[in-house]
Formats: sequence, C-alpha cells, structure tokens
Amino acid sequence: MSTVPAGWELFYSGKVRDLYRSAEHEGRVLMVASDRVSAFDHVLEPGIPGKGALLTSLSLWWFDQLEVPNHLAQDGATDLPASAMLVKTLEMYPVECVVRGYLSGSGWLEYQQSQSVCGVPLPAGLSDGDRLPEPIYTPAWKAPLGEHDENITFERTVELVGAEAAAALRDTSLAIFTAASAIAEKRGIILADTKFEFGADPMTGELTLADEVLTSDSSRYWDAALYETGDRTASFDKQIVRNWLSANWDKTGTPPELPAEIVERTAARYRELIERLTGA
Ligand code: ATP
Ligand code: MG
Repeated sequence: MSTVPAGWELFYSGKVRDLYRSAEHEGRVLMVASDRVSAFDHVLEPGIPGKGALLTSLSLWWFDQLEVPNHLAQDGATDLPASAMLVKTLEMYPVECVVRGYLSGSGWLEYQQSQSVCGVPLPAGLSDGDRLPEPIYTPAWKAPLGEHDENITFERTVELVGAEAAAALRDTSLAIFTAASAIAEKRGIILADTKFEFGADPMTGELTLADEVLTSDSSRYWDAALYETGDRTASFDKQIVRNWLSANWDKTGTPPELPAEIVERTAARYRELIERLTGA
C-alpha cells in the first residue's frame, strides 16, 4: 500500500479501511482505503491490487456529482496517497442508511418469508432482482466493532437519533439514491442498492454525508444491458469473489486464498465500473 505521510497515526482499522489522525490536523481524519477485500464478513487473501485507490477515486467523483454537504476537507495535508481521503471529523449517526431500488441479497431472502423488507411491505409476486415500485429506505443500526449490523425500523431510528434527524437521514438518503440512480442509468448501469452514512458537523450541526459513497463496496451495481437479457447476477460488485468463495468454501474456518485469475478479474471489473461511470 502507498504510504501515509509522516505525522499521521493509525487509530482504527476496519475490515477494509484504516483511519489516521494527526496532532497537526485538529478535527480531521485521514481515511485510507486499503486493497483488502471482504466477503461474508471475512477479509480475504490476497488483496486486489489498486482497489483502494480506485474506490477512493470513485467516492470523490460521486461527492462531486451530488449536491449535498459532504465531509471532504480541502485544507492542509499534501502528498496524500491516491487511496486516502482527508475528511472532517463528524459526530456520526449510528445508522447505516440503506436504500434499495431493487430486490436482491438479504432483501430478497426476507421478502420470500414475509413479503416485506425491514418492515416495509411490498407487492406480491416479485422475483429476485426485480425493480421495486419505488426505492425503499431500510436502515440498520451500526453495531460496535465486531458485532453484526442489525436491520431496524424507521421508528427505531427515531428513538436512536430523534425525529428530526431520523427524517432527514431518510429523506436525504432517498434523494441521493434517486439522483445517483439517474446518473448511473445514463451510463448503462443500474444502482440496485447502497448504504450511506451521515454525521453532524461539530461546528454547525449540519447533516453531512460521510464515509465512502456509492462505491462497489457499499453498493450493488448491475450492467443494464445484461439485466435486460436476463443475466441479472452479472454485477459490478464483489459477486465474482462471492461466487468463487461459495463454490470453493463451506464458510467455516479460514477462507481459501483467492486464485490469481479471480483477483485479476475482480480488479478488471472495478476498473470497468469506474470507466463506465466517470468516463475516465
Ligand atoms: P467494517 O470493518 O465492518 O467495514 P467499519 O465500518 O467500522 O467496519 P470502516 O468502514 O473501514 O470500518 O471504517 C470507517 C469508519 O469511519 C466507520 O466507522 C465510519 O462510520 C467512520 N467514519 C466515516 N466518515 C467519518 C467522519 N467524517 N468522521 C468520523 N468518522 C467517520
Ligand atoms: Mg464501514
């Protein structure tokens, strides 16, 4: 991984990202996306070369497209690696703001049992991968380190953050999802679902979009052309890795090492997504 400039001290390591702080940059966090890839809650070996820099560039591009206040800090630090993002330290809301425009993954599993997703009732007769009548907001409680995030109702988010913030989180999430879906659609890409995180600016209290945004780690992207022809699972996200793991691992113990061919195909897929979306 490209190196972080001197003076930045690692204070948190997630499955994929590392967070640094510096005495010289009060109120700032340096978020570094590593090349680590996780699936089924395990970090896999080896990493995907270039992934951290690619996903950071995708986040930055999306922040630029969206007309909502975000946590990027322009000031100060120079010589940052391409995988790093300098951000304002926010007071984070403990809510993962999930929006789904299509039925897939855990949503599809839940729908089959209850005809609803996270308490949101849906029409009968939907199939895996179907577009929903309109995007739905299905928040999750952001569990402390090591615990699984837990799906919660909108009412529960009101208890967690208050009525006003809960409504703002929901409405802003849905608005961003709609705007981003339209942008992706113009480029032949379906945004099936995604997760946002927000915080309050400690100076102004303003609701601020944080974390990574609309990357293939936080979102499901599909190829619209393939979706039409029926190959709905040909997604741009980590499906290559997930499929290979499902076929080659019983999900107990340490996952097997990814073969070079899977690593290369996944890396190529990340590059293709970014080229298609950003035109770069
Ligand atoms: P996992 O390993 O399951 O991904 P995680 O979500 O805690 O766990 P990361 O996503 O790698 O790990 O870590 C990023 C952390 O930084 C998250 O806890 C996120 O809420 C937090 N975060 C994102 N943006 C900001 C910000 N502007 N200010 C403060 N914290 C932030
Ligand atoms: Mg995270």
